[in-house]
Amino acid sequence: MSKKLLLKDAHIEGIRYFETYRKQGGYTAAEKALKMTPDEILEEVKASGLRGRGGAGFPTGMKWSFLAKPEGVPRHLVVNADESEPGTFKDRYLMEFLPHLLIEGMLISSYCLGSNTSYIYIRGEYSWIPDILEEAIEEAKAAGFLGKNILGTGFDLEIYVQRGGGAYICGEETALLESLEGKRGNPRLKPPFPAVKGLWERPTVVNNVESIAAIVPIIDITGAEYAKIGVGRSTGTKLISACGNINKPGVYEIDMTITVEEFIYSDEYCGGIKDGKRLKACIPGGSSVPIVPANLLLRTVNGEPRYMNYESLADGGFATGTMMGSGGFIVLDEDQCIVDHTMTLARFYNHESCGQCTPCREGTGWMYKILKKIEKGEGKMEDIDLLWDIQRKIEGNTICPLGDAAAWPVAAAIRHFRDEFEWHVKNPELSQTQNYGLAHY
Ligand code: SF4
Repeated sequence: MSKKLLLKDAHIEGIRYFETYRKQGGYTAAEKALKMTPDEILEEVKASGLRGRGGAGFPTGMKWSFLAKPEGVPRHLVVNADESEPGTFKDRYLMEFLPHLLIEGMLISSYCLGSNTSYIYIRGEYSWIPDILEEAIEEAKAAGFLGKNILGTGFDLEIYVQRGGGAYICGEETALLESLEGKRGNPRLKPPFPAVKGLWERPTVVNNVESIAAIVPIIDITGAEYAKIGVGRSTGTKLISACGNINKPGVYEIDMTITVEEFIYSDEYCGGIKDGKRLKACIPGGSSVPIVPANLLLRTVNGEPRYMNYESLADGGFATGTMMGSGGFIVLDEDQCIVDHTMTLARFYNHESCGQCTPCREGTGWMYKILKKIEKGEGKMEDIDLLWDIQRKIEGNTICPLGDAAAWPVAAAIRHFRDEFEWHVKNPELSQTQNYGLAHY
């Protein structure tokens, strides 16, 4: 059984309220942290090996150490709660059921970073959660854990919740900052990075909800102990939101030592494939990471078991492996049509492109149209090559990672399931009514 750090109290009735959270030991990590110096906290975070839980997996301690500290200029912590990656809903779970874990993590992080005004930018579709967060903020303030002179330390902190307008692109950190400033959520060119010029051109750290929540157990048990959980550079625990054709969709906390096979088939997690069907493929880290066929998902290219961690999932590179990404684990059974699935994703990215750069603006729409044609049985063989060519021209040629995110699913689908695309072209009359099926590959 995986060790639980974040969700250990999630089952306790009333845990979303301050009184119950406090009774379970809540805010003791904050009390401990406020007796430490900011540099000591930073060293703990570095020692923990925590990697950003939003998708990129960049070491959090290193990110914090890049924060510029010019004299007299305010600094900010912004929590990215714009969780819009298809298949990803783990931050929603944390904010809905454990809002004080996030607030406590923000208090510790803000103190470490020197932010007296911190923000939670939450996706507009999570319409019921801001009220939960604002209630938790008021409770924490009433108990002296937010506001002026917290616990008599002289440290002040206000936290504001800002609702997004429902644009996926605002999950990209610079687009988020533009939106938070009241502008259209267009990603900025980098550099300068937010650590130097972020919110209102002030040094800013943007971190994912789960990353900030993880700061609480890190301070609680120490960074060194946190680093002993997991394996290699995949330290601590990770939340996975599992969905698709499985028996037990939901949010699971894993310690990154379990195999993918165990995660899918054990009753502790996904409980196997729904209706006893066979596993066809999986997108293990949210819709932007490459899809992997069952054989490469359960075993690496060397035939070793594949594990639910950053290194093992990426083993084989983009040619065969995939990524941990945001932890949105989407399982596809034998009945799912890869062309249809890829077309749905292409439509999503085309809709969500902000339109600033030509390869993304034009390329995503073009890919969607071609995929639609193939799916309807109206495609030609050369369309598959054209699709490949377009995704190659998008990848790496755009301002923000949405372009890559749109290109990778198409590339991986063609790489691993080209037969299925060809079957649609060769069988126009069948492609509307039948699936290619597992038996064909
Ligand atoms: Fe906008 Fe797409 Fe360019 Fe990102 S890659 S800035 S979403 S057009």
